[in-house]
Amino acid sequence: MKIDKLKNQIPKNITVVAVSKRKSNKEILEVYNTNHKDFGENRVQELIIKNNDLPKDIKWHMIGKLQRNKVKFIAPFIHLIHSVDSYKLLLEIEKQAKKYQRVINILLQIKISNDESKSGLSFNETQNILNNHEQVNIKIIGLMGMGSLDMDKNESEFIEISNFYQKSKNRFDFKYLSLGMSSDYKLAIENNSNMIRVGSLIFGERN
Ligand SMILES: *Cc1c(COP(=O)(O)O)cnc(C)c1O
Repeated sequence: MKIDKLKNQIPKNITVVAVSKRKSNKEILEVYNTNHKDFGENRVQELIIKNNDLPKDIKWHMIGKLQRNKVKFIAPFIHLIHSVDSYKLLLEIEKQAKKYQRVINILLQIKISNDESKSGLSFNETQNILNNHEQVNIKIIGLMGMGSLDMDKNESEFIEISNFYQKSKNRFDFKYLSLGMSSDYKLAIENNSNMIRVGSLIFGERN
């Protein structure tokens, strides 16, 4: 689907992150040239190269599993890290953000699915971090979740994270609930998502 068509189908307040992993610069530029700036990647190496080669006003979103020893490579330019799945990782982002004299926006990734492949914090761990963290070079601006591959389970998973988000939103000044991909973005939007991460629907299937 053309990204403009997708944007026309959903409410204006929803941010579409075009997930460009494994896609070429040419394919990314085609989407960029529709005046779209938000792109998501899940591998640090690929992200560094693309950031170097592509227009500087692209807002890069890190959406994949992030190793602590790689934070330093993206800290200078990353727009938003969706996939903060441990307190240790949060501390490393704080450290690198300080080094580069930035405030890095992050989302806490909550494990809403029982799928082995998906990581994330429990609701309890998330609550603890929100209540106790004192870092000043990171700003937690919301939550991220990934539904199970078994889509029958998505609705109850989305309701759970959405309830937690709504409950915590004002107190912690959240801006984004990052929920929903190509297969489940409609259901995510019904459950208060305002940031969807869409890859294959926009770019076609990945190799
Ligand atoms: C790849 C990926 C997406 C996009 O998946 P599609 O099914 O291609 O839309 C969204 N979120 C994360 C974390 C991903 O790794």
